[in-house]
Amino acid sequence: MPTRVVEPYDIDGAVPPGTRSQFRSPVCETYLGDQIEIPVTIINGEHDGPRLFLTAAIHGDELNGVKVLQEVADRINPSELHGTLVLLHVVNVPAYLSQQRYIPIYDQDLNRAFPGKPTSNMAERFAHKVFKRFLEPCDLGLDFHTSTRNRTTMYHVRADIEDDAVVELADAFGANLLLSGEGDERSLRSVASRRGIPTLTVEMGKAHRFQPALIEKAIEGIDGVLAAYDMYPSATPVEITWQKVMGPAEEKRWIRADSGGLVDMHWGPSPLVEAGDTICTISDHFREEVTVIEAPFTGIIVGVLENPIAAPGHPICHLVRIDSETREELEQSMADGEFDGYRSYGQQWMGSAGEE
Ligand SMILES: [Zn+2]
Repeated sequence: MPTRVVEPYDIDGAVPPGTRSQFRSPVCETYLGDQIEIPVTIINGEHDGPRLFLTAAIHGDELNGVKVLQEVADRINPSELHGTLVLLHVVNVPAYLSQQRYIPIYDQDLNRAFPGKPTSNMAERFAHKVFKRFLEPCDLGLDFHTSTRNRTTMYHVRADIEDDAVVELADAFGANLLLSGEGDERSLRSVASRRGIPTLTVEMGKAHRFQPALIEKAIEGIDGVLAAYDMYPSATPVEITWQKVMGPAEEKRWIRADSGGLVDMHWGPSPLVEAGDTICTISDHFREEVTVIEAPFTGIIVGVLENPIAAPGHPICHLVRIDSETREELEQSMADGEFDGYRSYGQQWMGSAGEE
């Protein structure tokens, strides 16, 4: 209802220093003319500092980030904060309401519509309002995503490592796996980063779920950013025990099914597979033919099919080659117990392990 709306968005006017404001901001309208409002938290610190935005559910069925933002909005004390946090709890409200990835009308991808245009179609107008009102006034950004439905992805960060300011942010956030690239030129991350607002995409797990281990890891990453940019004196820097940076030229491959049937995953619980290891088998319903899919090289599985039936051409998993040095670091981390969290959410990735 329009009476709930606090407008305009103005950090210094509407949200005085040392306070938190939670409100809904209209971004577009339904066919019925009702306002579509996104839930927003602004935490304006008592002290000066950078403005950091956190965005979730730009794809409406990607929920882990929604939980991350709820927790952060609750935990941060404005009287200790140096700078401002701008939290857009659910960006793509129309898609969120129908629990799907795209804006339901014409299946528009909001994350291909930035920075948006005020006079174009719905996605463009939507993106324009969000970008102008909330993102453009910021200095740094973190955009939370998950895999698309029926797949899951290893927790990782996507960032343009050609941009030093982005690398600084990625180091502060402390992701182990970093996929480098500019990304789609109209994604939120690319547009913001190009305009001098270093921004990361955080990819975590699967759609339609809250995955506590990943949510906690993302909150630790945000804490690391708050620490690195001197935004929160009690924040803890992130310690990176191993890191793999994937440049655009490095070998990564979607391994696809060549036969139809039922998929049984054999890898795990750690994402590390050796060349020749069985990743999965695909069998027909009578088990007369069983196809074994082996790892073509030693690497880590960063994405995997969850729907356990496959047809020729279906992606089974996304394998990233690792060198012996990264592998040693990984194995050392596992031996030290640093990998325990990964092992538990490694099990969560596997569709055959059931729903968590
Ligand atoms: Zn997404």
